[in-house]
Amino acid sequence: MSKIKVQVDPNKCIGCGTCVALAGNTFRLNEQNISEVIDQTGDSDDDKLTAAQSCPVGAIKAVDSISGEVLWPKV
Ligand code: SF4
Repeated sequence: MSKIKVQVDPNKCIGCGTCVALAGNTFRLNEQNISEVIDQTGDSDDDKLTAAQSCPVGAIKAVDSISGEVLWPKV
């Protein structure tokens, strides 16, 4: 079961494609070359978290959908 929910801040995304490379069933680049979430259950929680942590501009937030805890970014 997918526990982690990811969100992209379109104002921060620079369209580098890293998240799509790491979790291509979850993220895709839209017509403006900005990442968007297409399926919260497309990839494993590990892959989604890794994608969030690998975003060079910190545009991806990862939240535990059960507890509500923000897993990334770490404060
Ligand atoms: Fe955008 Fe970050 Fe994904 Fe790169 S890794 S496409 S900057 S959200």
